[in-house]
Amino acid sequence: MPLRDYQRKRNFDVTPEPKPARRANHAQLAYVIQKHQASHLHYDFRLEWNGVLLSWAVPKGPSVDPSVKRLAMQVEDHPVDYANFEGVIPEGEYGGGTVMVWDRGTWEPEIPDVDAALRKGDLKFTLHGQKLRGSWVLVRTPRGWLLIKHRDEYASKEDILVTAPRSAVSHKLMAAIARENSGDVEKAAKADPKPAK
Ligand code: MN
Repeated sequence: MPLRDYQRKRNFDVTPEPKPARRANHAQLAYVIQKHQASHLHYDFRLEWNGVLLSWAVPKGPSVDPSVKRLAMQVEDHPVDYANFEGVIPEGEYGGGTVMVWDRGTWEPEIPDVDAALRKGDLKFTLHGQKLRGSWVLVRTPRGWLLIKHRDEYASKEDILVTAPRSAVSHKLMAAIARENSGDVEKAAKADPKPAK
């Protein structure tokens, strides 16, 4: 979905999210996953490409287990600067709720032609994140895209959403991000793992 659709949906006088800004091309391509407690909890998986963040909403979040395929619904492209946003989108605004930078880093295509791979619906890539690493694929099916970990030394049966629930930038949980940004703490806390007994 084009960036202008995103810009039309946002009222930048009301929301604290960054305005889109032009930026130079970098050799390194940004990768980010934002944990987003909107009307439903999901993880927004974003890859920088052609000056925007290609974006997929992953309702169940990524899995590092290669036997687990996670549905990833492609949503509108976002501005590259959006990768740094952690905070609260006001209720009533598009995507209202708490946003955490759950993981971030860079990515590399494993194929020579990214645009052709996206058209074909089969994008193989390597993530260099703080939490997610190694080889992955996004594959398009009639039901939507699937995000799948490839078998490599970074694959595991660990439920990384539970074992690594904190922000990659602030180390906060969702409830703390909501509290410090005048958000709905009770709603945000539902997205945090239950404290160990
Ligand atoms: Mn979202």
